[in-house]
Amino acid sequence: MEKLEKKIRAYALKNAIAHEGKAMQGPVMSSLFSEGLDKKEVGKQAKKISEIILEINSLDLEEQKKQFDKLKDDISERETHEGLDELPDAEKGISMRFRPAPSGPLHLGHIISNMASSLYVKKYGGKFYVIIDDTDPKTTLASAYEDIPRDCDWLFGNVSEYLISSDRMLLYYQYVEKLIEKKSAYICTCNQEKFKKFVEEKKDCPCRKLTAKENMERWNKMLDKKGFREGEAVLRFKSDMKHKNPAMRDFPLARINETPHPRQGTKYRVWPLMNLAVSVDDMELKMTHIIRGKDHRDNAERQRMIFKIFDKKFPWVFFIGRFKFTDLVMSKRKLTAAIASGEFSGEEDERIPTMASLRKRGYQPKAFVKFIEQRGLSEVDKVMDSKEFFKLLDNFNRQ
Ligand SMILES: [Zn+2]
Repeated sequence: MEKLEKKIRAYALKNAIAHEGKAMQGPVMSSLFSEGLDKKEVGKQAKKISEIILEINSLDLEEQKKQFDKLKDDISERETHEGLDELPDAEKGISMRFRPAPSGPLHLGHIISNMASSLYVKKYGGKFYVIIDDTDPKTTLASAYEDIPRDCDWLFGNVSEYLISSDRMLLYYQYVEKLIEKKSAYICTCNQEKFKKFVEEKKDCPCRKLTAKENMERWNKMLDKKGFREGEAVLRFKSDMKHKNPAMRDFPLARINETPHPRQGTKYRVWPLMNLAVSVDDMELKMTHIIRGKDHRDNAERQRMIFKIFDKKFPWVFFIGRFKFTDLVMSKRKLTAAIASGEFSGEEDERIPTMASLRKRGYQPKAFVKFIEQRGLSEVDKVMDSKEFFKLLDNFNRQ
């Protein structure tokens, strides 16, 4: 057996033993990275790694332990331990973040996707930011500015700083000007249907040819209350209209929205979209590692493009699998609507999985920590019913 294969097997066995006989690809890969193996080299082996994992997962736990004993000297982390696997390049401390949109109560889904980030910052030291992503005036709830810190302080206990996106508008605007100067963004006045056609036909819209000076004039017209109206102009990133993924073709960065904002009132009319705000914050705050939902794969790709324009190193990203409950409402929008309609008595209603309700029911943050440590970093989606989940959680809670 060649050396690399031995290491892959050893880590896959180790991960399997720590997780009731089932190894997962993500943690195995990240162990290989932290072993100092070349990322490209490991990447090339992805198929082989998944075959080995499949094979190992078909063995029973006893056989896995027997095989691991033979291989454990080939890797640097010899002990089988409960807990999250190592992150690459983390020894000197890390910066991570959680960016909740203030559009409804935080719930179990947020706990499952973000607890690992908090735990890694506890482990390696560094900063754990919570950034309230309130750049959509239409969906931002005024109550969230108090609710989010209350919930996050309770759950994580190690938030280094709370930031509010809408307090950082001038910073986003500065980056817009830089992008325009670098000819990496332009203001498009084509209507949506017309632009959609350009995307389908892989053709440039005429606005793409504007000079930086013309774009600055249009940008000022976006900012000006007497300038463009809502929907008349949008700031676009100049990516590639022939990109193989249509969703990457000159995606939007900012738009006009005159809905009064719960925190800023009518102070701003141009709002950054997620990819602009996230990129600026991640560059400014020097984020090193990001754990995010798999549904953000395209967004990460867009953000990587923006980082490239500014010659900044893109953080290490892990796409965590989603947890789906067959019988729980897990959408912030739906939760908010159901509470407003009286279907549930409020955020603390015992039938819903909001953080407020879980806290009221007596769950300790430590129980979630145990759950996340046992699950590890996994890219695999999991479907569960709530009975099964709460049985597990009750068990951890008693411990
Ligand atoms: Zn256009």
